[in-house]
Amino acid sequence: MIVLSPGMGVTVSFTPQMEKRLTQRAVRMLNRSLREFPELRNLEVRVGHTKTKLGVAFIPRHLRPPLYIRLRVRGLTYNTIGHELTHLLQGLTKLPAPDGASAWEPIPIGETQCDIWTLARSELFCDDPPTYLRMPRTVRSRWRHYAGRVRLLCVEAIRQRPGRRTYIRWLETRIAELPDHAPVARVRSEQLRLML
Ligand SMILES: [Zn+2]
Repeated sequence: MIVLSPGMGVTVSFTPQMEKRLTQRAVRMLNRSLREFPELRNLEVRVGHTKTKLGVAFIPRHLRPPLYIRLRVRGLTYNTIGHELTHLLQGLTKLPAPDGASAWEPIPIGETQCDIWTLARSELFCDDPPTYLRMPRTVRSRWRHYAGRVRLLCVEAIRQRPGRRTYIRWLETRIAELPDHAPVARVRSEQLRLML
């Protein structure tokens, strides 16, 4: 078992199956991701391996360490790591905060909710489009172009949630409108191509 403490006092251990596949890149990505999750301070996260592109998280119902996620090393993205760590918080934030810690901001359960809270947490998790949040094909295929704006909309949706029960629908509608605001230069070049 490898144990490391990537700052914030969180301890990470890997299953033997994961140890065999682990790369420096994956460890580095995990460390950077964990720094964005101060709620996991003083907790232990165990990381296993999965063959599927999407990771797996076991939403904790009790604060009984270790917390457990599974990731695929090949093609690993920050978005996937962030998504799985956010799943841990979906469970943890329902539990009483540990001694000396301030109460956690609750994160609602659900896959789309998980995507929204992951993107809102940090730009780091915007390296790949989320899986469950609905968006037009253009936004997904040109994700790097839209990621910053989608992230800001996620932040705004979370801000509006206490007074707007339909905040996810609001968010997905705003995201669907984004391609209409594509840069003018691009529209012109497409028109030129059409005229040729
Ligand atoms: Zn998920």
